[in-house]
Amino acid sequence: MENKAWASVLNTPLPTPILRLYTGDPDVSGLEEVSEAIANMANNDVFVRLPEFWECDASDYAVGAVHEQWVEGAWQLLAFFSRQLTPRERKYSAFDRELLALWLAVRHFRFLLEGREFTAFVDHKPLTFAMSKGTEPWSARQQRQLSYISEFTTDIQHLAGKSNFVADCLSRASVSTVQLGLDYNQMAKDQTSDLGILALKDSTTGLHLKDLPFGDAGAVLLCDVSTGQPRPVVPVNWRRSVFEAVHNLSHPGRKPSVRLVAAKFVWQGLKKDVKAWSDTCVACQRAKVHRHTKAPLERFSVPERRFDHVNIDLVGPLPPSQGFTYILTMVDRTTRWPEAVPLTSTSAADIARAFIGTWGARFGTPADLSSDRGSQFTSELWNAVADGLGMKLHRTTAYHPQANGLCERFHRSMKAALRASLADANWTDKLPWVMLGLRTAPKEDLQSSSAELVYGQPLRVPGDFLPHTTAPWSASVQRASLQDCAKAFAPVPTSQQGTPVSRVPVELHSASHVFIRHDAHRGPLKSPYDGPFRVLEHGFKHLVVDIGGRPEQVSVDRVKPAHLDLSLPPQLARPPRRGRPPRVSITSVCPPASPSRSPAPAGMDSTQSYSPAPVPRSRRGRPIVPSRHSDFVYG
Ligand SMILES: [Zn+2]
Repeated sequence: MENKAWASVLNTPLPTPILRLYTGDPDVSGLEEVSEAIANMANNDVFVRLPEFWECDASDYAVGAVHEQWVEGAWQLLAFFSRQLTPRERKYSAFDRELLALWLAVRHFRFLLEGREFTAFVDHKPLTFAMSKGTEPWSARQQRQLSYISEFTTDIQHLAGKSNFVADCLSRASVSTVQLGLDYNQMAKDQTSDLGILALKDSTTGLHLKDLPFGDAGAVLLCDVSTGQPRPVVPVNWRRSVFEAVHNLSHPGRKPSVRLVAAKFVWQGLKKDVKAWSDTCVACQRAKVHRHTKAPLERFSVPERRFDHVNIDLVGPLPPSQGFTYILTMVDRTTRWPEAVPLTSTSAADIARAFIGTWGARFGTPADLSSDRGSQFTSELWNAVADGLGMKLHRTTAYHPQANGLCERFHRSMKAALRASLADANWTDKLPWVMLGLRTAPKEDLQSSSAELVYGQPLRVPGDFLPHTTAPWSASVQRASLQDCAKAFAPVPTSQQGTPVSRVPVELHSASHVFIRHDAHRGPLKSPYDGPFRVLEHGFKHLVVDIGGRPEQVSVDRVKPAHLDLSLPPQLARPPRRGRPPRVSITSVCPPASPSRSPAPAGMDSTQSYSPAPVPRSRRGRPIVPSRHSDFVYG
């Protein structure tokens, strides 16, 4: 096949020895026969017999060159070359651009041109005299380029642009026009009736407006060519569609969106519109994290009466030890007295039994009980127990364990102590000693141990030497001493580690909709936020949010205000799905069909459904158009 192609290009059959060498014929005796055949071909001038053609062209944005050969009555393309001009090169004069095109083309094809006579065709007539003209002073760049070209040829001839269509096409910017799936024919029709565009035509704005063919459909659009690239002037009802076509490709930020849209399109107030629409893009807000909201810490008041406010939580599952796998922990907010009860199961009934059997039996029933949102603490049984004992239940909001911080901090100390003292997995036997150690350990903020605050005196731990008292023991004296001690007790608020930094966006206090951070496990491409959801009630530390018709309390730390386009109906998110993930169907894997974009959805009034910036008008009602060119160009 390769040999056939060679033969057709050369228009001469290859000598038999060479063909046999190409096909791997073992009968070829040696190189002598082949070299003789090649020498005969060179003598007959087979290689250079066919006419060849070299042409190049430059436009405002790119240069192109082409190498063709006359084969069987037609020009056939052998090689081509094109390159975009740099911003600096675009400022060159027409002569310099054409010279640059020729120089680049010769440099690119130098391996084909070396040692051959050829004619270069250009469509810029002054360039044909460049080699013979000596009077005009050339710039250093021109001298360098002409000198290089002259090493290959000095025969430069003029060819009208019409005949030079291949290179002309290669150097044309419209080749790279980005197709965004917009219906340019319809846009061209709407341009003729748009008041803002009509006013723009009559005013002096610095824009160079021209009717140009645009896109594949051959629509003739009014474009601005002042920046070098034709930019269609967009009618009012098309602006949102144009923005979405450009922005929805990669959802860039505000400034890149303005730059991208302004590079391809132009309208009055483009920057303001694009910024506003970028800010209200729901997909962007759902997928991007700037800074998380962090509400200032709220201090729980510490009750003066001991055992009035208790925090309760569960630890586990742990490695089984004597059948126990969980620990129920309870901590008194005033004295920080901890209780830990090993459990075999975490059913609501077991927990209620353990709570009443230990805490209730020893310290009575508390007035307030704080817990997380574990299913045991939200169960009906637990609610019934709380009602029966007169306890007020406080539950943390989801994914916000800080609210039950007293228990969480105690878990850390308890687990660390268990880990440090464990030789095997038998933690049940170690737990009483760890609890004794934690209860007798002095706490810095309290200036005493929790055991002293409960019993009025330190507990004896193994190895302690307590002073032996000789005074006779009296129950009344002891009781009076303990009562004095309890009366003098002043509640100490829980200590706070580190310097809390709070950051709550101002607009959150009045936000009608919010996004909620997805704190459960999420895949690598899952958006960090869900939403938007409607806010039912604002609070200092939490909000009540309508999630799928169900009011739910959400911590302020997990939400961020949603910026929505008020002219559009809010697209509320569906509540998070529970249960098994749905089976992925083939249609959901396929990319969505991208029909030709139209200015507004069917059935909606295009002037009402989208709200671009209104065209400013004078007192007589004429649209006011800015006169500065910089108002239409955004770098
Ligand atoms: Zn976006």
